[in-house]
Amino acid sequence: KSSQAPLLSLRNINMTFGGIRALKDVSFEVMPGEVHCLAGENGSGKSTLIKIVTGVYRPEPGAAIEYDGQTYSHMSPVTAQAAGIQVIWQDLALFPEMSVAENIAFQTVLGRWPRVISYSRMHEIAVKALARLGVSLDVDRPLKDYQIAQRQIVAIARALIGDAKLIFMDEPTASLTQSETDHLMDIVRTLSASGVAVVFVSHRLAEVLEISDRLTVLRDGALVGVYPAAGMTQSRITELMTGRTFEYD
Ligand code: ADP
Ligand code: MG
Repeated sequence: KSSQAPLLSLRNINMTFGGIRALKDVSFEVMPGEVHCLAGENGSGKSTLIKIVTGVYRPEPGAAIEYDGQTYSHMSPVTAQAAGIQVIWQDLALFPEMSVAENIAFQTVLGRWPRVISYSRMHEIAVKALARLGVSLDVDRPLKDYQIAQRQIVAIARALIGDAKLIFMDEPTASLTQSETDHLMDIVRTLSASGVAVVFVSHRLAEVLEISDRLTVLRDGALVGVYPAAGMTQSRITELMTGRTFEYD
């Protein structure tokens, strides 16, 4: 993977919220198809960085965003989505009363494809997207019938039908059990194997490191460094995140 050009390259990203410098001259790269762990303590700027890439916030002037061979001064949500950048937020932004099929095909209805599509077409799209993740759910049931872990899979399936090349997952493991987390890690592996890059934010560092190629650490809005995931330990990451040295066994 190291000989390839980066899929995403951010340079000189600065973001200030009313006097708080949430990001200080941060650079960040994602390679095609890699699993990249983004780590940092609460408030270190992880979500803000994701919001800049997905067009929710505009970085201060001087920033450069290169993605898939194109240069941008900033992203808009529409540009990001059209370019295949997707994000799974912790609250998932799904519709509990709607069927699984409708939730997955929602973007299709809003997006580039014909606005009016039949329910059977939605059904077909949803089943196919779930199959790509190795999952089969009854897509005609309302989403509210399913547990959080399955809803998460629905959110990922929805991201996939938009031809995602880069998926951000911002703390998706927060409310998952151990076995649900393991299943999600399998899905992330599947995505990566199919060429989709995944940037993962999670407190479950042990699990995430196991599937990650690289790790970026932020502290107080600044980049600490980028490291190969292999050989990283949780204690070492804690040191990098906090800037303090610990004694450990
Ligand atoms: P993380 O996701 O790493 O926990 P965030 O990116 O959410 O961190 O936040 C980084 C810093 O920016 C924090 O100090 C946070 O309080 C601040 N911040 C984030 N979003 C906003 C906002 N919309 N308005 C004001 N301050 C914000
Ligand atoms: Mg956050």
